Amino acid sequence: MVLKSKNVAMVLGKTIHLSGVSQQDFLKDEGWLAHELCHIEQFREHGFFRFLWLYLRESMRVGYYNNKYEVEARIAGMKHRKSQNPVKRATDTIDPSGMPLPGDTKRQA
Ligand SMILES: [Zn+2]
Repeated sequence: MVLKSKNVAMVLGKTIHLSGVSQQDFLKDEGWLAHELCHIEQFREHGFFRFLWLYLRESMRVGYYNNKYEVEARIAGMKHRKSQNPVKRATDTIDPSGMPLPGDTKRQA
């Protein structure tokens, strides 16, 4: 078994960096887009370096998944999914990449 390449989106300031996913596919995914836009808002709110520091500190304290900035972004992403059926929602999760940066991975569809 060879692992499929991960789809990764990473936010730095006002820019979303994509890896393993096309811009077109990313923009079609409203939940994922909303999640990353939330991180852009967090950068804007706290300032570039301050937010990186706060994000890293949260991750060290509670882990990437429970990082409050990830929790906030996850909620933002789920608001777009009310109309989707629960099965699709469950298989369509966005997880923190585990990097010391506000990046997220998504399972290949
Ligand atoms: Zn995130």
